[in-house]
Amino acid sequence: MHSTLPLYINGEFTPSKAERTIPVTNPATQLTLTNAPCATNQEVERAIGSAKAAFASWKETPSPERARLMLRYQQLLKEHHDELAEILSQETGKVFADAKGDVWRGIEVVEQACNISSLMMGETAENVARDIDTYSYIQPLGVCAGITPFNFPAMIPLWMFPLAIACGNTFVLKPSEQDPMTPMRLAELFDEAGFPKGLLQVVHGDKEQVDQIINHPDIKAISFVGSAHVGQHIYRTGTHNLKRVQCMTGAKNHMVVMPDANKQQVINHLVGASVGAAGQRCMAISVAVFVGESKAWIPEIKAAIANVKPGLWNDEDAGFGPVISPQAKSRILSLIEQGRKEGANCELDGSSFTLPEYPEGNWVGPTLFSGVTPDMTIYKEEIFGPVLLTMESESLENAVTLVNQNPYGNGTSIFTESGSAARYFQHNIEVGQVGINVPIPVPLPFFSFTGWKNSFYGDHHAYGKQGVRFYTETKTVTSRWFDEDALHGPNMTITLK
Ligand code: NAD
Repeated sequence: MHSTLPLYINGEFTPSKAERTIPVTNPATQLTLTNAPCATNQEVERAIGSAKAAFASWKETPSPERARLMLRYQQLLKEHHDELAEILSQETGKVFADAKGDVWRGIEVVEQACNISSLMMGETAENVARDIDTYSYIQPLGVCAGITPFNFPAMIPLWMFPLAIACGNTFVLKPSEQDPMTPMRLAELFDEAGFPKGLLQVVHGDKEQVDQIINHPDIKAISFVGSAHVGQHIYRTGTHNLKRVQCMTGAKNHMVVMPDANKQQVINHLVGASVGAAGQRCMAISVAVFVGESKAWIPEIKAAIANVKPGLWNDEDAGFGPVISPQAKSRILSLIEQGRKEGANCELDGSSFTLPEYPEGNWVGPTLFSGVTPDMTIYKEEIFGPVLLTMESESLENAVTLVNQNPYGNGTSIFTESGSAARYFQHNIEVGQVGINVPIPVPLPFFSFTGWKNSFYGDHHAYGKQGVRFYTETKTVTSRWFDEDALHGPNMTITLK
């Protein structure tokens, strides 16, 4: 591994002249794995310039040719699946099976991008007026940019650049400075797949590089995934600069548990969905709302969650790894403390959990609160740690009202055996991704990732048909071929004659 990561500009992995670097550490040991250089102003400029130059010929490349290159990329990602997962585990702390899942959910999006010729088909209508036909084409935008978070360093970059590039755009990726090694390996495999130079650029850094990208006149569209406050900044700045922007942001996801649900299924799914990946998933269940008598299951859920042990990435018995950084850990611990102070019952407290062999790790054990109310800080804030809040509701209607009053709307689920309860829930809930007996309903990439409310700022969502819409323009052509013999006088109206 390089002691400092290179940048990927115009098909070359080049060392940065950065004056500032950010250490990338293993969250279980604090050992520095590599350093992320904060790309200089000129380097970011060069990356955008090279993407702009490459766009001129890439947009003319026939879509089946683009798809064939994407197929080769997909094959390489599959061949390197374990290796990618291992790199990902080192820098995120994720356990290996979960790291493989992170890579796999990205590969699925690349698979979908291989279908780009069909996805970019327009519409046609014959004889919309006498002898006039109308048809539409979908065309790429130009240089697009992606800014990604730490928690899915394979899946989320793969939500973005493969589809954007398959559509005929070129791309500048600024991955999270906390785990840029996986995205860099994704770029190496992209390079190996044989794409022309300059389609994908990777520049490292933080706010400074992001601000340069989102203010740059040659960037046509910005995809962002990360926290709500940064997403709001990027959405405001990007749209102010008249760019197309999609921001997938924070979350507080509820699972509503009906008393008729299968108890064992509830327990099994709630455990994985709440503390799995140390709760660092934007679709993690962070609040379980027990309707009526189902509250009697809380002690069993507590026992099941208490059984999950954090551990190293290659420990097959470990349920999840450390959280990403000491700063993330101290924020989680202070929220747990705040929860106690505000009167919630901390039934299970993972604050002091540690692995004796790895005392430096950012460990937080599974934590469970009961008696949580909507005014508490632990309910209002996204904790992003292995902390499950439990609440109680008299009825399904009240539970739905509670979920709808939450400002976030990323994901939610209901566990029930009643079709009518499920139907009521799916129809009335104001959340963009709904699971029925499915705890983490992340749609596969032929659908789109459709968070609502404060979990999303923009118009078109990530991947699927909406992703294609986001990265393209529609051009509608109205066409007539004159018959020499049929001459008409001037048409002074706007009607088609
Ligand atoms: P973050 O917002 O701190 O960072 C995300 C990206 O923004 C990084 O590349 C970072 O360098 C950059 N950034 C950070 N501060 C910035 C600033 N002030 N100005 C400009 N750029 C800045 O997010 P994170 O901690 O890496 O990721 C966790 C967050 O991401 C959680 O809130 C989680 O819910 C959210 N998330 C959302 C989704 C979704 O699809 N809705 C998916 C995954 C993660």
